Amino acid sequence: MSPPVNRRQVYRLRAPASGREALAAVEPGTVYLDRETGEEMRPVTRALPLAPSESSLLRTPDNLRICRRCDQLIGVDVSDCPYCGLRQPALDGGS
Ligand SMILES: [Zn+2]
Repeated sequence: MSPPVNRRQVYRLRAPASGREALAAVEPGTVYLDRETGEEMRPVTRALPLAPSESSLLRTPDNLRICRRCDQLIGVDVSDCPYCGLRQPALDGGS
């Protein structure tokens, strides 16, 4: 029942000077460079849960969620999936 140990942890990376961001699977001891600026990117938030899940799909970071139909990452503030057009449920806890 032990979870797989080869699952890569996906982080949101940010280049401090330019503020550019990217999602990448980070491995310890590896430095990630922005492809365009060459600036070192630092992981800022974790995009995948540590707990194993049935798939390797990205889970929702704080400002993204997953479309239930096409499994694409979409913004939490969009009402319809830009990929497949599925109507998204309203968020809880709104003002
Ligand atoms: Zn969709």
